[in-house]
Amino acid sequence: MTYTMNDNALRDWLGISARKKPQAVIADLDDTLCRSFDIPITEGVRVLAALSREVAVHYVTARTEVSRAGTEKFLLDLRLPGWNHLHFCPPWQSSRLHKREVIARLAGEYQVLLSIGDSEEEKEASLLAKVPFVEVDREKPELAWQEATRLLQKAGLLLGFGELLG
Ligand SMILES: [Mg+2]
Repeated sequence: MTYTMNDNALRDWLGISARKKPQAVIADLDDTLCRSFDIPITEGVRVLAALSREVAVHYVTARTEVSRAGTEKFLLDLRLPGWNHLHFCPPWQSSRLHKREVIARLAGEYQVLLSIGDSEEEKEASLLAKVPFVEVDREKPELAWQEATRLLQKAGLLLGFGELLG
């Protein structure tokens, strides 16, 4: 008699876990979540602060290690999740390549619900990694955060946020 593996068994056998990956949101910092280094964009802060704790938040930025202390302070002062998931750009790498590599890696580790940012670099990196991208208009970042709210709320991942939606 021939034993035929079902799909799940086959995936396990191939070393590809059939289990669901943890969920994550990827956010850019400058002109997405803050202006002038540490002036918060309140709509973004509200969304990330309301995000269910089961969703990991990763910040992928063109900032380098030099900015670590100020960046951590910004996130901690606002009680934002993910202060320990900061991905700074190595000084020897272009920010374009940095974002491409990190977003591709995160897309492998997580089910990335969305990536949000204002630059062409994270847009390209997200599309390459097949991660849903929400583009920030620097003049009106609140629009992108409204879209992020809509998506995350649909997934039931924003807590106590219903009354803020129009
Ligand atoms: Mg930016």
